[in-house]
Amino acid sequence: MSEANPFEKDEPEGLKTPWRASVLTLYPDMFPGPLGTSLAGRALENEIWSLEAVHIRDFAEGKHRNVDDTPAGGGAGMVLRPDVVSRAIDHVTGEGDTRPRILLSPRGKALTQEKVHQLKEAGGVILLCGRFEGVDQRVIDGRELEEISIGDYILSGGELGAMVLMDAVVRLLPGVMGKIASGEEESFESGLLEYPHYTRPTEWEGREIPEILTSGHHGKIAEWRQKKAIELTKERRPDLYESWLAKRES
Ligand code: SAH
Repeated sequence: MSEANPFEKDEPEGLKTPWRASVLTLYPDMFPGPLGTSLAGRALENEIWSLEAVHIRDFAEGKHRNVDDTPAGGGAGMVLRPDVVSRAIDHVTGEGDTRPRILLSPRGKALTQEKVHQLKEAGGVILLCGRFEGVDQRVIDGRELEEISIGDYILSGGELGAMVLMDAVVRLLPGVMGKIASGEEESFESGLLEYPHYTRPTEWEGREIPEILTSGHHGKIAEWRQKKAIELTKERRPDLYESWLAKRES
């Protein structure tokens, strides 16, 4: 078996039906940003996926092209207007477009690796990036937006969340990662956190690579890795550990 070469690519299969992301934002210049480099950037160039960043302000009307207004009922901040946002959503939604429409939102369901796989299978996404206090509830309901959060903290806008989501999906697309296998043992894919990694030099600052890993004994190595993955998960993420156990026992 040859050594894994991260630059060796599988045939891109997504060319005919590339994964398509439409991002609605008040800051289209932020895109592709970090997704224009490295794996995702190369995949973008190779048309394995596509990205359109659409300026919400283009769908505003009137002299001032207002996209937001003060919250009904009072309070601080501004809220994105439903009429403007819906026009932007409708503009990127093609005939028979079945892509999930997602609002990045701290109130959403947490993004998980399982969800990332689902979004990959969906063939693309429409992502609405909130700003200020958020988005008028009526457009969330009226356009059936699914709210997704990238974690329990507040960002200043949905753009970084959108990038996180797209990065997580794009690396799973056929032809993006060097070896399909490199995605399979990752944290969460098995329900466990990943085991620790080592590489050369064999001794560094008095620390050695665990002997088993240099033994060449593949069975024992796999066993050791599984054991480490279980230990780590139990210690750091008891929640994940419990669901892994439950799944294994069922
Ligand atoms: N007032 C809102 C927070 C608004 S933050 C609240 O308390 O729920 C402004 C925008 O940033 C949001 O509309 C959302 O699009 C984005 N955002 C903030 N935190 C996020 C998170 N954890 N995950 C995804 N998007 C987030």
